[in-house]
Amino acid sequence: MDIKKIAASLANPVVHNSYIEYGAVGAALETIDGNIYTGISIDTACSLGHCAEHGAIAEMLKNKEFRIKTIVAVDCKGDVVPPCGRCRELIGQLSSDNRKTLIEVANGEVRTLEELVPYDWKISNGRTW
Ligand SMILES: [Zn+2]
Repeated sequence: MDIKKIAASLANPVVHNSYIEYGAVGAALETIDGNIYTGISIDTACSLGHCAEHGAIAEMLKNKEFRIKTIVAVDCKGDVVPPCGRCRELIGQLSSDNRKTLIEVANGEVRTLEELVPYDWKISNGRTW
């Protein structure tokens, strides 16, 4: 299953009530167990929205899964959007196994979470939280 195509199919921006836009970015992730979850971005006045990755992760958590094999977010032009710092941190806090999560950061460029966030604050003096 091509999660990039799935994410792209979700990226259809809709403006609602003139100050809420949702769906400008779509995200899809595949868990270690092989399940796929999706989400869309929500942008609102006063920064109350969230990234598409957050939506996909919420869907995953609803199904009691935490370990992400790969994740990608795509905008409405079909281009990959790299995860923001908040999303990187969220992925890392879900499971230490997610240090190996494959993240497409630009069209065709894939990095692991630990490449993007090399020093995890939860790992100190050999201890993992
Ligand atoms: Zn984000």
